[in-house]
Amino acid sequence: MARYTDAVCKLCRREGIKLFLKGDRCHTTKCAIDKRGYAPGEHGQRRVKRSEYGLQLREKQKMKRIYGVLEGQFRRYFQMATQQRGVTGENLVRLLEQRLDNVVHRLGFAPSRAAARLFTRHGHIQVNGRKVDIPSALVRVGDVVQVRPGSRDLTAVRQALESAKKRPTPPWLELDPEGLKGTVRSLPTREDAALPVEEHLIVALYSK
Ligand code: SF4
Repeated sequence: MARYTDAVCKLCRREGIKLFLKGDRCHTTKCAIDKRGYAPGEHGQRRVKRSEYGLQLREKQKMKRIYGVLEGQFRRYFQMATQQRGVTGENLVRLLEQRLDNVVHRLGFAPSRAAARLFTRHGHIQVNGRKVDIPSALVRVGDVVQVRPGSRDLTAVRQALESAKKRPTPPWLELDPEGLKGTVRSLPTREDAALPVEEHLIVALYSK
């Protein structure tokens, strides 16, 4: 599976905002956005006037980077979003939020979506009592996502849960911190995702 392997802080600097791709480090003074809050590269500090297309492109890139999804897969999510009832942009956000790696991160079992993806791939996650090692699997209402019993004493999980206490569990998920499991109470709304992205620009970009 193709994935991005370069320095992830560059992605935040390109977008000009914190995308929180590195877990706890993002909340420290080591964050690259705090130290060098301009785009990477030789011309990174130049002022750039963006065209309408440029603005749409940046919103799309931002969303892809937040969820760690590459272009082809992102387009497939967009296709699925257009086929669902309701507002396409909101459908897109909901589909991305339903990804298993996102849910593992939102429940606090991993400090970032990238870590959650690895954690899932390595077989540490169960859905409804069965191992699921596909980070892109979409959860449904009523699903129970939990850390596999044999993985519960992993230091990484304990540390992630400790730092997760500082951020609230989204209302569409119900966390049982003792059982290291969470239940999907409802499908996420746009407000639940609290994303710094204007998804209507992405819809406009793909609708050309
Ligand atoms: Fe982005 Fe986190 Fe790196 Fe800061 S530390 S630039 S928020 S990935």
